[in-house]
Amino acid sequence: MRVCVIGSGGREHALAVALARTAEVVVTPGNPGIPGSTQASPTAIGADLFVIGPETPLVAGLADELRASGKLVFGPGADGARLEGSKAWMKEVLQEAGVPTAVYGTFTESEPALAFLRTLSGPWVVKTDGLAAGKGVLVTDSFDAAAADVAAKLSGAAFGDAGRRVVIEEWLDGPELSLLCVCDGRRAVPLAPAQDFKRLSDGDAGPNTGGMGAYSPVPFAGPDLVAEVLERALQPTLAALRARGIDYRGVLYAGIVLTSSGPKVLEYNVRFGDPEAQAVLPRSTGDLAALLAEAAAGHIESEPRFDDRIAVTVVLATEGYPFHPRTGDVIEGLDKADALPDVTVFRAGVARDADGAWITAGGRALNVTALGDDIAGARATAYAAVSAISWPGMHHRTDIAAIVRSAS
Ligand code: AMP
Repeated sequence: MRVCVIGSGGREHALAVALARTAEVVVTPGNPGIPGSTQASPTAIGADLFVIGPETPLVAGLADELRASGKLVFGPGADGARLEGSKAWMKEVLQEAGVPTAVYGTFTESEPALAFLRTLSGPWVVKTDGLAAGKGVLVTDSFDAAAADVAAKLSGAAFGDAGRRVVIEEWLDGPELSLLCVCDGRRAVPLAPAQDFKRLSDGDAGPNTGGMGAYSPVPFAGPDLVAEVLERALQPTLAALRARGIDYRGVLYAGIVLTSSGPKVLEYNVRFGDPEAQAVLPRSTGDLAALLAEAAAGHIESEPRFDDRIAVTVVLATEGYPFHPRTGDVIEGLDKADALPDVTVFRAGVARDADGAWITAGGRALNVTALGDDIAGARATAYAAVSAISWPGMHHRTDIAAIVRSAS
């Protein structure tokens, strides 16, 4: 099978590596660090299966366009991708499907927004309705900061049109879980659960980012919990989508909070998580290409399979990330890290300079994944690889999977 992966980051590199175990893979546009990268347009590429990585082209309808030209596509159409493209719409679907989620309100005017904010006890959660590259969410202990954020978002100053409508939510207390499911329109088949680390700095301090690390599987997310989330969230959501005439074929990624009153859906994403994919996919031992092709064709027959080992992924970011990432710094030590056993360094945002040296080309430049027999072993190997790599201004969290956040 020949598979075309669409996208250019660490997630697409992880997809390409996992798919290449059983298929021939091309990646567009990819990046100079991802083997098989091509600048050809997806519409000009001949492949048996197209796998769309990022949310932006999904929300823009790339899956529909490719399907219209007869291609087999893993990724929802623009209709289903609205789950991520509009948080307000996502909440509407959740309510319709009876899926447990945070109490919320949707606002375009600041007065009612502030009135609703006052009814909540805090911490306060303010989200852009539209896409904001994982950075449109403010969670704060300060009412004043929340109120200021509402004003900045609604005025368009903070996130342009994506923020002119905001979703304000009740804060959910509990450990988070990422459950990525492969969907064929009717059935959601779970991949191994993961936890990600969204805050920039150690101890979950600093601003939210696209994600600074992840690990998989999650010790407290056993088969019963996964089955409960499928039954109470994913399956009713797919059914609600079908009732709206939406045939959802792609990844449905549920961000779950395990509250004292049970699991609640924080959000849906319509693609593999980044960096969760970099922790989940290296453990895949089955035929991922066949699984995704079956889902794309509307009928999953095979089961995903995973290595027993634990994967830990550490994101290496550039100076200024997440607000003003600097690029163009020369990366040292990549070859040394690549050569370590049980380590894969996914190229997320890299390029080569005129002399052929690796340089940074994006805020989250590299993702280092290590496999180990237990979390401590995987962490030790991942951080040994991290310490081999350097560039001016490189930063990363030192506590990925250190204290495994669990349901108490
Ligand atoms: P989202 O982009 O909606 O996943 O939000 C990013 C991060 O903000 C989540 O992973 C949570 O850590 C946090 N967050 C978002 N909404 C809530 C909420 N209602 N309660 C607690 N934390 C939240």
